[in-house]
Amino acid sequence: TRNALPGILGLEAYTPGMPIDELQRRLGLADVIKLASNENPLGMSPRAREALAATIAKDNLALYPDGSGYRLKKKIGEYHGIEPGRVTLGNGSNDILEFLARIYAGPGRAVMFSDYAFAVYPIATEAQNAEAVKVPAYAADHATMPYGHDMKAFARCLRERPDVSLVFVANPNNPTGTWVAPADILGFLEQVPPHVIVALDEAYWDYQDVALRPDARPWLDRFPNLVVTRTFSKIYGIAGLRAGYALSHATVADLLNRVRQPFNNNSLALLAAELALDDQDFVRQSVELNTTERARLVRELTAMKLSVLPSQANFVTIGFGRDATPIHQGLLERGIIVRPMGSYGLPEYLRVTVGTERENTRFLEAVKDILKAS
Ligand code: PMP
Repeated sequence: TRNALPGILGLEAYTPGMPIDELQRRLGLADVIKLASNENPLGMSPRAREALAATIAKDNLALYPDGSGYRLKKKIGEYHGIEPGRVTLGNGSNDILEFLARIYAGPGRAVMFSDYAFAVYPIATEAQNAEAVKVPAYAADHATMPYGHDMKAFARCLRERPDVSLVFVANPNNPTGTWVAPADILGFLEQVPPHVIVALDEAYWDYQDVALRPDARPWLDRFPNLVVTRTFSKIYGIAGLRAGYALSHATVADLLNRVRQPFNNNSLALLAAELALDDQDFVRQSVELNTTERARLVRELTAMKLSVLPSQANFVTIGFGRDATPIHQGLLERGIIVRPMGSYGLPEYLRVTVGTERENTRFLEAVKDILKAS
């Protein structure tokens, strides 16, 4: 290991949530639920799944996928009203975040993102041996947006650090669920020098209330240094296939394509993403379920005197006012996998994905049971 670059030696491998079958085996329990990775509890569009299955039955997977993603990029372009040449496909949107770090970060350069922001930003940054500059988030006792991104602090940090070449803004953010008002994002973009790339990570865009969703499309024409990322892993329910994309200026898309592996999306992911994009009824149904159930979770957890961070995503982050490890353990023992937040510096919090009505009821009852026992 000693000859690895220092940025790599400083990293810790990302720990994904425990797989369902692993906990099933450990507990000898058949009915384990996973509310740990912000996946779509409805799965993928049934229409898309059928079409995908029919294709798998007859298609020849001996052939390489379409390395240009021609059809999917065309569809995404139509969906957003943007030229396909300004769309870049990734193996999940994580892939795109890494492309950005590979293009714009490196030794002697800095990458800026908020405290309590998505875990892949420091990984992508440090893997390039660039410096991660963490912008202080709003305080834990902030009146409306505890732990949220503070765009004024972003602008201040940027003025103090001329070596910043890339900025990640997660809106809504994971693991907090917090969000930034569209006007505040725009206000920040107006202060960013043109040589600094801003990646606006909209993985959870669809889950936001309509009034809070930024329309970044016109910003992409106004700010050539803006890159917007989206994913098929959340609302479209195909996290297991890995597909995400970026919208950007054509010259940035050209750079992204230079570092992209030629076949970074497999054939099934390309096809499933196309089919999923076509089924906007399923998207609406998924949004509806999430909105109703998210509100119920917040209501019932608050009634249990727990603090729930404001969320516009498909998960809620719950503060227990003490080390949450025993609660996490108690949930595992009851066959429920959620996400501890210790690695984010929030050891008193657990993040739980909004599931189906039945899953959420089971989760709420388990929490009640654990709190009563302790
Ligand atoms: N951005 C954020 C904020 C996320 O939470 C996630 C998923 N955990 C991603 C990006 C990446 O998702 P994917 O690579 O599956 O598109």
